[in-house]
Amino acid sequence: ASGNHDLRALIRTIPDFPKPGILFRDVTTLLADGAGLRASVARMAEPWEGHGIDKVIGLEARGFILGGAVACHLGAGFVPVRKAGKLPGKVLTQDYALEYGSATFELHEDAIEAGETVLIVDDLLATGGTAEAGIALLERLGARIAACSFIVDLPALGGRKRLEALGMSVHTLVA
Ligand code: IMP
Repeated sequence: ASGNHDLRALIRTIPDFPKPGILFRDVTTLLADGAGLRASVARMAEPWEGHGIDKVIGLEARGFILGGAVACHLGAGFVPVRKAGKLPGKVLTQDYALEYGSATFELHEDAIEAGETVLIVDDLLATGGTAEAGIALLERLGARIAACSFIVDLPALGGRKRLEALGMSVHTLVA
């Protein structure tokens, strides 16, 4: 199902976005390609088939696009981790630093039951700060995190090492 598509070739690099000196990896061109999107979702999901994933966690915002599709592939539920102020129910809150500023993530406190197995999904791993905030929220609810899965790894920014130091399994498709 996942085929042999060159996902890297479908990702465009845009210089000086959102700031001068930043090389932004733009995955919208990959998402817009039907075969590329299908292959990305399949390659993110397939390692976790039969691993009892209860919920896929998508990190706002591109993690929602991939996370919903990966959840559907696995027959798991989908749970969003959202920027502050978006979720209507009772939430847990976690501040974090990111590559270009800082932000706050929230998670519905009844979205995960203690002991459930989850898979965290986002488009890209840079410093790992975003994923670490999601991990912190999930651990506060007693989730068992099977892995963190991303399309793109930017290894020079150290995210994989940072997440592995937290004991996480990290899965990426393109470096
Ligand atoms: P980190 O927290 O430094 O790992 O940054 C990862 C988060 O920022 C993810 O949610 C990404 O969507 C976003 N991000 C950082 N750099 C890029 C990029 O070059 N392209 C697309 N998204 C990025």
